[in-house]
Amino acid sequence: MVVNDGVIEYLGDIPHERIPELEVANNSRVIDLKGRTVFPSFIDGHTHLLQFGASILKFDVNRCRNLDEIRTTIAEAARSAPEINRLLFRGWRQSTTDRLALASMIDDIDPRPIFVDSHDLHSTWCNTAALKEMGIDRNTPDPVGGSISRNEKGDPTGLVNEGAVITLVWPHLIGAASREDKLDWIRTAMKSYRASGYTGIIEMAMDEGVWELLESLREMSQLDLWIAAHWIMFPTENDEENLAQVQQAANMRAKYNLDNSPDFRIAGIKIICDGVVDSCTAALSKPYLVPPHSTGDLNWTSSALQKVVAKADSEGLQIAMHAIGDAATNQAINVLENLETTGRRHRIEHLELTRPEDAERLGRLGITASIQPVHSDPSGLEAWPALIGTERCDWAFTHKRFHDSGAQIAIGTDAPTAPHQPFPNLYVANTRSSVRDPSNHWKINGCEPLSLHQCFSAASWGSAFSCFAESITGSLEVGKRADFIVVDGLSEDLSAQTLLLASVAQTWMCGQLVFQRQANSEGVFD
Ligand SMILES: [Zn+2]
Repeated sequence: MVVNDGVIEYLGDIPHERIPELEVANNSRVIDLKGRTVFPSFIDGHTHLLQFGASILKFDVNRCRNLDEIRTTIAEAARSAPEINRLLFRGWRQSTTDRLALASMIDDIDPRPIFVDSHDLHSTWCNTAALKEMGIDRNTPDPVGGSISRNEKGDPTGLVNEGAVITLVWPHLIGAASREDKLDWIRTAMKSYRASGYTGIIEMAMDEGVWELLESLREMSQLDLWIAAHWIMFPTENDEENLAQVQQAANMRAKYNLDNSPDFRIAGIKIICDGVVDSCTAALSKPYLVPPHSTGDLNWTSSALQKVVAKADSEGLQIAMHAIGDAATNQAINVLENLETTGRRHRIEHLELTRPEDAERLGRLGITASIQPVHSDPSGLEAWPALIGTERCDWAFTHKRFHDSGAQIAIGTDAPTAPHQPFPNLYVANTRSSVRDPSNHWKINGCEPLSLHQCFSAASWGSAFSCFAESITGSLEVGKRADFIVVDGLSEDLSAQTLLLASVAQTWMCGQLVFQRQANSEGVFD
């Protein structure tokens, strides 16, 4: 591979004996990778950069198996950090506390506000001090698409759900952080991405605050990844207000688009149609099997959604729709089917429970299946058969079916709801086995793996294609940017098992070395 001026100029064989002569003639540098493997760099098809950076710095309760272990972790964190104003945790799995999350269960540990994010980021478990700090009390109404858990008197009991997390908890914590903290979160996230072999991301919850931070980093030449972003929409009961949000996204896109700002741009909008299965908020066509036997709510009425989607489409915006339950997926596909245009590469995010006939429609309608295979890791889904029944588990993460329907697959991680590392993600996609707990041999709908080739392709080219960047990057081709990684530990016969041994030795972006695992590792690279 010959790289010149950041672009791939030649790919193919060069007779070994001609290399010294070419090196001199072209004033170039030859790098012998000593048998390591080169791949296109990864592109995270779905992430939340600011939240990811913040979460890296939060305490982790992901490995806790019950309330006692969570309480011990909180107490240890409190002792280890006497200087901070509030204690932030991530990775709580609802099943470890029987889906119960009361302030009173953690109130006695520390007087400071305590915020515990569920692993999927759709709920936050707060102690009384945290509720107080946010000003949430009996008089706080439930926001549209969200809820505050309450007792029979109407007093909040500690759990904040769905839309209420996005409109109450996140703005509070972001508001409480200093600007310098937030810039650091983003820098931390970008650094982690580059060290894991990524050169680009698709950001799925952009707003003015985050955009402004990214702009300043760009001015300081510290934007170390290329970014295509989807502007987040908040459902209101007023169509005008909803359409005004779409207009704002369109205005932003006019300023930052593929033509005038290909590395830092607005791709479209993001709509959250429902919640998640674990907290019974993903919208299903038939009820959950556990009390109160609800079906989970759709966040948008189909008529409000249709208006928003039609306006976005007519403005040339790409539409990304979070849909996890089969009813939400069905609604999302229906509204996209009604659009007049084709070829906008609209997309559905997550697609965790999809009826077979809807999976078929994805390919037919040219809808991108934006998936995060690491979410199908069977460890963490043990509660699903009881929640939805084994029959509906056959609709879970039907990745192969999406592919067979002809849909373009884009692979991402949804960091920080799941780890951002690429190889474990691809391992789960290819084996449907657990990466979190290799001793767990149960699989959810194990007949839906993608081939290794499909996995690698979807995690680079597929994500590039999903946001119209495939002529710039996403594969190793003459004329494209030299965005690639050098990988250790992958033998020539690539297999799922070797993926777990693989590690990124170097990341190159536009022909520049932007990450090297070890400085001077035997002087091999220079
Ligand atoms: Zn997300």
